Amino acid sequence: MPELPEVETVRRSLESHLVGKMVTGIDLLLERILKKPEPKEFCGLLTNKKITAMDRRGKYLLIRLEGNYTWVIHLRMTGQLIYTNEKMKHKHLRLAFHLNDGNWLNFIDMRTFGSMYLLPDDRLGEITCLATMGPEPLDKSFYLEELSQKLSKRRGALKAVLLDQSVVAGLGNIYVDEALFEAKIDPRREAATLKENEVAQLHKAIIKVLEKAVTNRGTTFRDYLDGAGKKGSNQQFLNVYQRSGEPCVRCGTEISKIRVGGRGTSYCSKCQG
Ligand SMILES: [Zn+2]
Repeated sequence: MPELPEVETVRRSLESHLVGKMVTGIDLLLERILKKPEPKEFCGLLTNKKITAMDRRGKYLLIRLEGNYTWVIHLRMTGQLIYTNEKMKHKHLRLAFHLNDGNWLNFIDMRTFGSMYLLPDDRLGEITCLATMGPEPLDKSFYLEELSQKLSKRRGALKAVLLDQSVVAGLGNIYVDEALFEAKIDPRREAATLKENEVAQLHKAIIKVLEKAVTNRGTTFRDYLDGAGKKGSNQQFLNVYQRSGEPCVRCGTEISKIRVGGRGTSYCSKCQG
């Protein structure tokens, strides 16, 4: 699933193409991608409204429209948004947005879990996950004290707690594993038992792995592509994710694969012991 660095890369790659443009027509190949309002109203509201800005919150893309509306897109498992001169011929094309510059924004989604909303800005709170989202880890508002307080109140394995978007925005399986390796903390640790210095290491590690991944334009193992249809390169720089059985870059121990909170988790049993 695209996580913060991938969604941020999509945002950056589309921003200059979309801001100032408007959607003039929509090919609706799979209606259920449109969650709210119902498809006919959605298309009516979107058509001929100028795109004023392109933002991101966690794993959500927020395309701002004139008249104080926001077009909210979540790529979920396999969603891709690709800007092209001609409408893509692709068997997993679910929606195609024709723009007033003659180009197309294609929504490709093999698994079809992607979702879109179009709401007035003052009703964005109706998207629960957006309303309860934790701090943006690459903003100044990501405070160590707040992270520390949140973790101290949580039960369960640290890995599972960090996947909860209300704790920190935008983390998923890849970057939680990478951040925990960077911070040298066992993913199975009870979140509430972290010492002050460990939370500080974790806070720093989250920022570091995400910044590196944004610089490398995201991680592509299977489906993720940016808005130009290009792969990311961060997969070459991961230390634990998808590296089980390979030697740890720090100590040479074989990277282990376990399950934590139902999710496949890669870690170094020595460094993170
Ligand atoms: Zn190690």
